[in-house]
Amino acid sequence: MSQELISLGNSAATVVADDAKQKTEVGNYFVSNYPPFSLWQPESISSATEALNQAPRPDDPLGLYIHIPFCRKRCKFCYFKVYTDKNASQIEIYLNALIKENELYSRTRAFQGRQLRFAYFGGGTPSYISERQLQYLVEGLNRHVSWQNAEEVTFECEPGTLSKSKLEMLKHIGVTRLSLGVEHFNDDILEANGRAHLSPEIYRAYEWARQVDFPQINIDLIAGMMGESEALWQDTVQKAIALQPDSITIYQMELPYNTVISREMIAKGLDSPIADWPTKRRWVNYAYEQFGALGYRLASAYTLATTKKPCRFIYTDALWHGGDMIGLGVASFSHFGGVHFQNHHNFEEYINALNDEQLPLLRALPVTPKQKLIREMILLLKTGALDTNYFQQKFGVDIWQAFQPIYQQLQEEGMLDYADGKIILTRRGLLQVDHFLAEFFEPELKPARYA
Ligand code: SF4
Repeated sequence: MSQELISLGNSAATVVADDAKQKTEVGNYFVSNYPPFSLWQPESISSATEALNQAPRPDDPLGLYIHIPFCRKRCKFCYFKVYTDKNASQIEIYLNALIKENELYSRTRAFQGRQLRFAYFGGGTPSYISERQLQYLVEGLNRHVSWQNAEEVTFECEPGTLSKSKLEMLKHIGVTRLSLGVEHFNDDILEANGRAHLSPEIYRAYEWARQVDFPQINIDLIAGMMGESEALWQDTVQKAIALQPDSITIYQMELPYNTVISREMIAKGLDSPIADWPTKRRWVNYAYEQFGALGYRLASAYTLATTKKPCRFIYTDALWHGGDMIGLGVASFSHFGGVHFQNHHNFEEYINALNDEQLPLLRALPVTPKQKLIREMILLLKTGALDTNYFQQKFGVDIWQAFQPIYQQLQEEGMLDYADGKIILTRRGLLQVDHFLAEFFEPELKPARYA
């Protein structure tokens, strides 16, 4: 009898432990880069400047990320460095700093003769800046590094900051892909989570964007905002479907340490107000199925794209394949010539460095060949499929063999399948891909703080 009790006790403990792991607790799970940011160091900045002094590689694609860190209001789940209190003259100072930073890069040896393949305006809220400021910025940037021949120019927008004339201006400056941060269609949820916009602004902005006729319109949703329920989520997915976006990006809500929600949970010892991970995965899967039934394809773990017209994702494609990308702006990340680097994350330090005609670099990390392989492999796992031949040719490594114990374990857990040199994530694996990517980190880097 006692043996049976012990056994029951053990299995109950296991279930409790598993349940606890499934809660959305405070912490990072989303993997966007490798090696972890905590390994990037000021002492390695010289490796970034060396990469910028290398001989130019005119045929290699190059991308530009332009960071606009201003927002109307801070969302309660936001973990980015954003400013809600900067006035017009401070914004102007910042735009001049972006232009100067771009100019400094354009003077480096490695930039000579390079063509921009894509540009990405991210934030923050790029659409927060006025039409006049936008025009000023674009003219300033194009003076030194033109994106006239870029295949993709993406611009992130918050619906409440748009007007029809601003959208016309975006089309005029060459934006090919407009990304609308909708997040949810229910006003109570939008308000409870601190979003600056409400649903009427979504519909108004979307209608204008269609009239202006951008080649690709994306909408962002978040599964698991505070107050979310099965019925409200399903309603939001149906409303998203009714808009017929060209692509849709869905993130599962997480709680990094510096969000308003996380800070409140820690300070008051509160339980998580966010649905648990299995629930969020079920919600995302519902969206996959509903959009899938209408012919949308899964472009990655987060994105569905229509099959009615060509939809490309040049920015993520280049980023995940280890392409060169320079990040302009406070706290921006770059990857260039095999080196990671990041800008100052303090507004004044960023501006001061550029006033002194210096690149505003805070920390860097030269990436070893093994780390390049791991980075590309884990980021491409987010697409749901890896071709081992590609890695064999690019890195001379059979990834299935080299990471055999991890892949085997994931296969046993039903996360992926392997056949004919292809590693294919199952639906179960795709829905939780970020939860197992750290398994592939080098053993000595597994305990490293991610941020
Ligand atoms: S709009 Fe985006 S960047 Fe701005 S506060 Fe909200 S989540 Fe953060």
